[in-house]
Amino acid sequence: PLAKDAATGSATVEFRSLRRQFGTTTALDGLDLTVRPGELLALLGPSGCGKTTALRILAGFETHDSGEVLVDGEDITRIPAHRRDAGMVFQSYSLFPHLTAADNVAFGLRMRGVGKAERQRRAQELLELVGLPQRAAHYPHQMSGGQQQRIALARALALQPRVLLLDEPLSALDAKVRLALREEIRRLQQELGITTLFVTHDQEEALSMADRVAVLRAGRLEQCAAPSELYARPATAFVAEFVGTMSRVPCSRTADGGVEVLGRRHPVDGHLPADGDLHVLVRPEHVALTPAEDGTALVVAASFLGAVTRLTVRLPDGTELKSDLPTEAAATLPLGSRAALTLPDRPVLVDRA
Ligand code: ATP
Repeated sequence: PLAKDAATGSATVEFRSLRRQFGTTTALDGLDLTVRPGELLALLGPSGCGKTTALRILAGFETHDSGEVLVDGEDITRIPAHRRDAGMVFQSYSLFPHLTAADNVAFGLRMRGVGKAERQRRAQELLELVGLPQRAAHYPHQMSGGQQQRIALARALALQPRVLLLDEPLSALDAKVRLALREEIRRLQQELGITTLFVTHDQEEALSMADRVAVLRAGRLEQCAAPSELYARPATAFVAEFVGTMSRVPCSRTADGGVEVLGRRHPVDGHLPADGDLHVLVRPEHVALTPAEDGTALVVAASFLGAVTRLTVRLPDGTELKSDLPTEAAATLPLGSRAALTLPDRPVLVDRA
């Protein structure tokens, strides 16, 4: 049930040509990105690509060198942090250790001068919203990591922020709790319709939770798209290899602007580098293997993933490819056996070798 006091705004957030330099390190190198009202947008990228810096600038904990951050069209970079209407949850539990769960949740309300009875009522409602109504009187050290993060979430929502900022909130939790909280955060975010920025370096987390995923690279936006789009149509080799698994196979140019790979011609999806040696990028689910004694592919590794088994095969030139097969089919290709390998008849993504 939706607590009425958790009702929040759903702002539009725009980063425009945002730059931030730390000494010789460029954390943000002209970031352009729009977060739509009510969406959960994941900021995804390798360590050091500027995700946290972008979030901290939005929250007011960090300054920028140039560019703008607009919330509902208003440049907020001169507004002090406490007036920005942003609720934030961090990786490490940032609860006040000497306050109960309810007092942690109500902390911001107290700072705003909300009376005690009203604070308690609203704190209780928010604790219900995050599924912990019985924990009001507990102190942080009496709760698990997952419970503490739920309290932190309730505290972030208490002031009815226009944006919710989550900085790797699940990274410190064990796998099972992490999965449960992924779903819970997503459900809550959709119920409240609150614009949310979620920083993560975990591609699975980003793809499973977000409406759209923004992939950052060296302080710039590489691509922003819905998870399925990002996976199926990555704009660059960097995105393709960061999101999901890709194998690289040497290929050569053909006269008609395509490439030849493993003896077959393929059209190119997107950009074909003008010079240099080339690789084609292939997803494991697109590599077909059939048992064949005279096949060129040698099965060198297998990894059981449940319904699917991921085989690694080696070609005569040393190239290794991964292929996902239904586990039953993979059973017909034991380690050391040989297979015929085919790539699908579709445009391929090409990168420099
Ligand atoms: P991670 O996932 O490791 O947190 P990130 O993508 O969030 O990475 P940022 O934390 O935004 O990256 O950092 C971007 C770059 O700026 C990094 O090279 C980092 O070392 C540097 N940096 C960030 N904050 C500071 C600071 N206060 N002083 C100096 N360098 C900083």
